[in-house]
Amino acid sequence: MTGLWWARRDLRLADNPALTGAQEDGGAAAVFAWTDGITRWSGRRSAHLARVLWQLRDQAGGALAVRRGAADAVVAQAAREAGAAVVWAAREFTPAGITEQDAAAAALEADGRELRLIGSPYAVAPGRVRKADGDPYKVFTPFRDAWRQHGWRSPADAGDPASLRPLAPHQDDIDLDQRAAHGDASDPLVEPHEFREDRLLADLDAFIADDLRRYRDDRDRPDLDGTSHLSTALAFGQIHPRTVLAATARERHPSARVFESELAWREFHADVLFHHPGARRESLTPVLRERDWLDGRDADEAFTAWRDGLTGFPLVDAGMRQLAQTGWMHNRVRMVVASLLVKDLRVPWQRGADHFRRALVDYDHAQNQLNWQWVAGTGRDASPFFRIFNPMTQADKFDPARRYVERWVPEVDTPAYPAPIVDHATERRITLDLYQAAKAERSS
Ligand SMILES: Cc1cc2nc3c(=O)[nH]c(=O)nc-3n(C[C@H](O)[C@H](O)[C@H](O)COP(=O)(O)OP(=O)(O)OC[C@H]3O[C@@H](n4cnc5c(N)ncnc54)[C@H](O)[C@@H]3O)c2cc1C
Repeated sequence: MTGLWWARRDLRLADNPALTGAQEDGGAAAVFAWTDGITRWSGRRSAHLARVLWQLRDQAGGALAVRRGAADAVVAQAAREAGAAVVWAAREFTPAGITEQDAAAAALEADGRELRLIGSPYAVAPGRVRKADGDPYKVFTPFRDAWRQHGWRSPADAGDPASLRPLAPHQDDIDLDQRAAHGDASDPLVEPHEFREDRLLADLDAFIADDLRRYRDDRDRPDLDGTSHLSTALAFGQIHPRTVLAATARERHPSARVFESELAWREFHADVLFHHPGARRESLTPVLRERDWLDGRDADEAFTAWRDGLTGFPLVDAGMRQLAQTGWMHNRVRMVVASLLVKDLRVPWQRGADHFRRALVDYDHAQNQLNWQWVAGTGRDASPFFRIFNPMTQADKFDPARRYVERWVPEVDTPAYPAPIVDHATERRITLDLYQAAKAERSS
């Protein structure tokens, strides 16, 4: 009997229980649904997805169907064509992912088939790590400690690309060659190695061998670029966090524990969103009153200056331009730009999160929404609202020689560069006063 692997956010052959599950009984087919949701992604992100799928299909000897349509319809149709009684997929935990897999399970069941969910994009599935009384953790550090204690499986055996069977061409097939080349002037298909799974695994090994030791000291320095850049591979599931954790576990240097702790944040945010699906839009903790936020034209102008990297705060502008030009931004700078938008310009975090959704290639729903809530002081175990980053002292501390700023804002010291659009000290005071007033109103 043939199985079907429904590829989702697990676009890899290595360490993939859904793929190996589908191959349990021998040959299996593989399908990816190019849904309406994906058609709304930015051109850059969907081009990246196309490249990732392109390399996966290439590794699989062409045996990966990528079809336009709702996941339930695409998967049910592919299962019929493959004659698969069982469809294997990684379990999703985001609200949209759950809706999608419920619909696919129902469509398959109506056809006398079964959806079997196995594994997840996390070392420990969201909802699994709980306090002794069964409640979810609200605070990160005890979550992380319990998460470590819970532990995770060793990486699964690699899937066998040779036993994947292609599906016949279909009218809904996506033209991956064309999609993958779209949106990037330098044709990536000439040398698509940086999208290849084996190359990413080699990059991980190189990071661990060469840079992990420096991670604890350098990870906050955008000028030194001392982080792993694994976020995009993790977002598309080209590498499973369990594979990363198995590699870092062999390292004795304390930096390895700091790095694992960052991966624990990824798991914590996914856990929070799983327990509080509303957190994708709603603040978990109120901070200001509705009327305290900027709106109308003032908000539009402030937002536009922020988005375009023209606030007059060099570190913020450098970050926003790095994002616009590369689709990625250093974590410390993400925090500083988000703080400026929410706490100096008083634009609600959701608007910034929406912009990041359009601009980031490593966009991950849980990580983005919950990190915005963390900076905005509205999340679980968030940075307190009254902690307002000073964009000038952050720059002095984390980009001391101004190398990062000069790289992204070359005109910083010329008259062409704008003066700050607000006075940080003044806005900070206003925001804190509003916060106190909102707090008093809530408790009265
Ligand atoms: C406002 C804001 C929005 C963000 N949006 C996203 C997003 O959409 N997608 C995303 O993957 N990350 C997001 N992050 C988290 C973080 O900035 C990126 O994961 C990190 O910069 C990626 O670079 P790296 O892989 O080199 O990180 P490294 O420092 O090398 O960290 C290794 C891995 O740990 C995880 N990690 C590190 N920091 C965090 C964190 N704060 N929260 C959760 N996981 C973390 C990531 O998976 C990362 O790849 C956001 C942070 C902020 C402040």
